[in-house]
Amino acid sequence: MESPETLTFRFENNLVEGAERPAMKRRRVAVLGGGMTGSVLSLHAKRLNAGEITLFERADILGGLHKSPEVDGFPYDIGAFFFSPDHPVFRIFPGLIDHFVEFDLRVRTVTEGGKQDRYPLSISGYRKNHGSLTMLRAGASILWNKWANRTRDTLPAICRYYVGDVIYMGGGLKNYIERLYSLHDHEIDPLFATKRMAKLVDLAGFRNRFATSLRDAWKPRKHAVALARPRAGFQHMYAVIECALTAEGVDVRTEANVQGIEKDERGFLVSTDRKTERFDAVVSTIPVPVTARLIDIPIHQRFETVSLLTLFYSFEGDPGFDAEVMSNFSNSGRWKRMIDFSGPYGRSHELHRISVEIPLAPHSGPVDIQAAHRDFMASAHSLGLLVDGDIELLGHHLTPHAYPIYRTDAVADLERDKQAISDWGILLCGRQGAFDYVSSAAAAANAIAMAERLARDAATALTPSNRWRPSHS
Ligand SMILES: Cc1cc2nc3c(=O)[nH]c(=O)nc-3n(C[C@H](O)[C@H](O)[C@H](O)COP(=O)(O)OP(=O)(O)OC[C@H]3O[C@@H](n4cnc5c(N)ncnc54)[C@H](O)[C@@H]3O)c2cc1C
Repeated sequence: MESPETLTFRFENNLVEGAERPAMKRRRVAVLGGGMTGSVLSLHAKRLNAGEITLFERADILGGLHKSPEVDGFPYDIGAFFFSPDHPVFRIFPGLIDHFVEFDLRVRTVTEGGKQDRYPLSISGYRKNHGSLTMLRAGASILWNKWANRTRDTLPAICRYYVGDVIYMGGGLKNYIERLYSLHDHEIDPLFATKRMAKLVDLAGFRNRFATSLRDAWKPRKHAVALARPRAGFQHMYAVIECALTAEGVDVRTEANVQGIEKDERGFLVSTDRKTERFDAVVSTIPVPVTARLIDIPIHQRFETVSLLTLFYSFEGDPGFDAEVMSNFSNSGRWKRMIDFSGPYGRSHELHRISVEIPLAPHSGPVDIQAAHRDFMASAHSLGLLVDGDIELLGHHLTPHAYPIYRTDAVADLERDKQAISDWGILLCGRQGAFDYVSSAAAAANAIAMAERLARDAATALTPSNRWRPSHS
């Protein structure tokens, strides 16, 4: 065991072991929230020598929005269970990938009349579903809208610019967006397009579609290879993450609900229900309004969010679709997406395990599970899905604050409120922490960037005058 006087200092490319040096006052960094962002950020910051890292998570396990509630002996998920092999989390936690299940990912959409296509759409699928004439109209509409909506100053203008009016209205994209937010498309800020729809717009873009179709005609595309979270659920994935964090010296505190942050001339005082400790820097990945409350500054804008109701089903029979993910681009039902877990994990007791996601608008009142179930079943049957077999509703999960809402009239105020928190001294990062509509891969990438910033700050703070400051003894 090292004494404080003979600490081992690790520099990026310069390991100095066992050298007798006076103890250095290590910079202490508090990371609030142990979801994807907090976990990746903590380990990367530790490895980059950004300081001693303490990770505070109020739940008894890490994972945040990544949850796999067990229902009828099967771990379902509240969101997507699959990751791309180039997800940044595998770079930071390389051993993690061994716990994942590889499978061919098929993602489809269902539109009016139960017509199915590859997500979000394919030229061949569109022609098959709508006929050559409509496809020609769609092509003409894309060309016209490239000119008519060239300013791209509203969300509908951006969508029409990329996919044209015929596809936007008739292909179900407008329904999908409005269902997600329970708002009219013109009430949603264009920021949504850059956050949520970059890939979708890119995929649906004419040039991209054309190139993809040419490539498919030349060499039929295999399904995308994806990695599904460990068979036992996200809990297992985050248990592996917690082990790696602890092994590399991150101080992981679960069941540590941060209840207040104050500051003085020597740093930040972070209080949990157990104790108060001093830190040199604080990064928050917990919801922005909670951070504002912790530091006791007023915020002016409502940070509105959509909650998500997930229904968990078993289904015996032919579900009527051949995919892991089916997105609802039709006009019917409140459901957004259906996920079948059989692809990566196989059927469990001959049953398909299916989850269904239903966005709930803010202020939509108490949740009526049976009404949501009836609405989903009526819609699915009208679209020819889950007709041939027996379905059973086994449970549900409510995720508050699942998606941030960017209203056109609120975005500037949201940014001002976030800036006020940053000006106070707290660094913001993550899906809820920065009110940022990011996928888990983008959350991890942003966490890596934040860790690098902390490392730069630490290097600046270690001026020659304080680098080898004698210990208080
Ligand atoms: C329903 C749903 C579906 C999704 N689907 C997909 C998808 O298909 N593909 C994809 O890539 N991404 C998807 N995502 C996004 C992905 O899950 C998130 O981007 C990612 O998990 C965000 O991680 P985070 O660490 O930023 O936030 P979070 O997971 O929210 O972590 C924040 C943590 O802070 C903790 N906390 C809060 N308050 C305190 C406090 N006072 N003290 C201490 N700790 C506190 C919370 O317990 C939580 O663990 C989905 C998300 C949801 C909700």
